[in-house]
Amino acid sequence: MADASRQVALVTGAGRGIGLAIAKALGAAGFAVALNDLAVGSELTRAVESVRETGAEAIAVAGDVADLSKHEQILRAASDVLGPLTTLVNNAGVGVLSRGDLLDVTEESYDHCMAVNAKAHFFLTQAFARSVIHVERSADLFYSIVNVTSSNAVAAAAQRGEYCASKAAAAMISKVFATRLGQEGIAVFDVQPGLIETEMTAPVKDSYRKRAEAGLTLFPRLGQPAEIGMIVRTLATGALPYMTGQVLSADGGLLLPRY
Ligand code: NAP
Repeated sequence: MADASRQVALVTGAGRGIGLAIAKALGAAGFAVALNDLAVGSELTRAVESVRETGAEAIAVAGDVADLSKHEQILRAASDVLGPLTTLVNNAGVGVLSRGDLLDVTEESYDHCMAVNAKAHFFLTQAFARSVIHVERSADLFYSIVNVTSSNAVAAAAQRGEYCASKAAAAMISKVFATRLGQEGIAVFDVQPGLIETEMTAPVKDSYRKRAEAGLTLFPRLGQPAEIGMIVRTLATGALPYMTGQVLSADGGLLLPRY
């Protein structure tokens, strides 16, 4: 039976990596969690089980967030089982189809990055906000949207320029929705991870680690998905009240200006 008196989160791209770590952290904080990923398969099933191990109610909600026609269905599949959603974590993201010279970037790679990393954030946020605004809300619950963008929203990397452009767009999407949704009592945050050890960074992990140890980051190591999970959990529980529209650089000091 859907319960309207608790925090309920939808986390996109939660089959592995940062999204899964966020889902676990929210589950451990008492949220019921809907884990979205492209398709229901063994990875998503295992992910849901690992969130249930925190004691949380958790379900799988498959669907491509880049397919805007699926958004209502994804939101409804989550709220029908778990109750009205209080929290959206836009985490699903993709890298470039091929790293290399900016002069060789294809339209396909550009569109793929934009579709998942930016356009899906915009319209899933819009659909979530509409659904929250139209249900009766509890004053005891905290309503928020957390967008996982990237330090590449501000730091240029010419070997994956289309990724950077999509993340910069996503960062502005956070700001404009924060501007609109303040009056609705919905906080919007932009979490910008730096170098986090996941499947996305696996091909460049060794070189990133060496560069981190050599001083690229102030903490001389790569970040872990669980650390991003803790940050999102802090935001989504309302532990930082009276804040919205803020960027959190979750990057071990990568982007601190210094000389
Ligand atoms: P990851 O290991 O590649 O995981 C991404 C997850 O998102 C995968 O489970 C993937 O599913 C899913 N996904 C991709 N496209 C989707 C779609 N259209 N609809 C639904 N789910 C989709 O990546 P990660 O490192 O955890 O990254 C998570 C987020 O953090 C991304 O937005 C990424 O850009 C951002 N980020 C990561 C880092 C880092 O260092 N790792 C740094 C900055 C920002 P499949 O397995 O089916 O493809």
